[in-house]
Amino acid sequence: MTDRRLQVREDMERVIKKDDYVQLTIEDISAEGSGIGRTGDMVLFVKDAIPGDEIEAKVIKMKKTYGYARLMKILSPSPFRVPAVCPVAKQCGGCQIQEMDYAEQLRFKEKKVRGNLERIGKFTDIPMEPIIGMEQPFYYRNKAQYPIGKDKDGHIVAGFYAGRTHSIIDNRRCFLGAEVNEEILNIIISYMEKEFVSPYDEKTGRGLVRHVLIRCGFTTKEIMVCLIVNGTTLPKEEKLVEALRKVPNMTSISINTNREKTNVIMGKDVRLLWGRPYIEDYIGNIRYQISPLSFFQVNPVQTEKLYSLALEYAGLTGKETVWDLYCGIGTISLFLAQQARQVYGVEVIPQAIDDACRNAKINGIANAQFFVGRAEEILPEVYRRHRIHAEVIVVDPPRKGCDDSLLSTIIEMQPERVVYVSCDSATLARDLRILCDNGYALKRCRAVDQFPMSVHVETAAQLEKI
Ligand code: SAH
Repeated sequence: MTDRRLQVREDMERVIKKDDYVQLTIEDISAEGSGIGRTGDMVLFVKDAIPGDEIEAKVIKMKKTYGYARLMKILSPSPFRVPAVCPVAKQCGGCQIQEMDYAEQLRFKEKKVRGNLERIGKFTDIPMEPIIGMEQPFYYRNKAQYPIGKDKDGHIVAGFYAGRTHSIIDNRRCFLGAEVNEEILNIIISYMEKEFVSPYDEKTGRGLVRHVLIRCGFTTKEIMVCLIVNGTTLPKEEKLVEALRKVPNMTSISINTNREKTNVIMGKDVRLLWGRPYIEDYIGNIRYQISPLSFFQVNPVQTEKLYSLALEYAGLTGKETVWDLYCGIGTISLFLAQQARQVYGVEVIPQAIDDACRNAKINGIANAQFFVGRAEEILPEVYRRHRIHAEVIVVDPPRKGCDDSLLSTIIEMQPERVVYVSCDSATLARDLRILCDNGYALKRCRAVDQFPMSVHVETAAQLEKI
């Protein structure tokens, strides 16, 4: 062996171990929102570091080819680094990239989508339109779920779970949620203190109040409060109601019972204490009734932009038959129904379909029909049995993307256009490649930022039959 070879081997064997200090330049962000840096062949994930940062980090865990390190010192900050707006941004898992300038967050997300389409989808000359961001990237969530507990001094706290633990850090002001949440939490906690209502203790399974769910209609301003309780009643409920109903626009106050030892937040039963059992809100011109247990998009402003884009990509004239697969509560279906002849929605969760039907009814939409079941089973069955042709098929699947057999049915049905709405651009790229190898061409695509301060990004793509 020559000297040089020996040298190389020695370098490779200089392994990085736990507790080592390393200097890194952060190049990218992982799916979980950590900064990614390299040293030799090793990839290190560093929470709270952003691309462009030069840092000193301490290794906390090593695997074979990658590891995790803690940010110890920023040697030279990224030009895109900004101070966090929220004082607890680092401890709370809710935001991952709050210290990254918002314009840079948008560039990063667009690059991520393009990168996946190129690398996984093997697309070149991608017809990508500029990402749609938010004018005001804070206070965008219409729903908040605060765990309630006790701190080590026995005070009642409401906030968020620290890191991966289940200990609660008191923080009633989240910069992503509605500003009124803080006032509502203060009211609930002072009621609990006055009436000696105990928070739930996960370890013992004792205590009453587990979580507080707050939902706000951004258009209607209506507010819903639901306390998730380890029991069916609360002491002196009338006192709680009296205080909460003073909050302007309070519309619905209820209790949800959850007696299980589980991480699932909500139980099945809801009892109304005051007001209406639901609040109403709008996405575009469609009205929705939202009860404590219903699903509803958490960022209505960006949802309207994303689904309007899906509608534009569908290119409807009023004559078309359209399928909306993975339709949830029918948000896209009802948008499409206003410009199509007939819309069929398919969704696996029965309660979501109940909501979809009710939403169609309260909006006077008669040309939308919904099916409960797996899209990959319902679509082929209905197509083969009834030969229902489709001009346009829209899909909005969960992160894992579309089932292979569903893509095969779409290819067999030969719609003029396919509109793919995706929350994971890696599975989007994989599925678009299959469609584009089988008679379709990618005509337009655009990312939409539904979740500023997080690494998530939504994408809409339009495919046309060649
Ligand atoms: N556009 C919808 C949200 C889509 S989210 C809305 O606005 O409400 C993805 C949906 O796919 C979820 O509601 C999930 O329950 C549903 N889903 C997951 N797997 C499915 C399957 N195999 N077939 C049909 N629906 C499915």
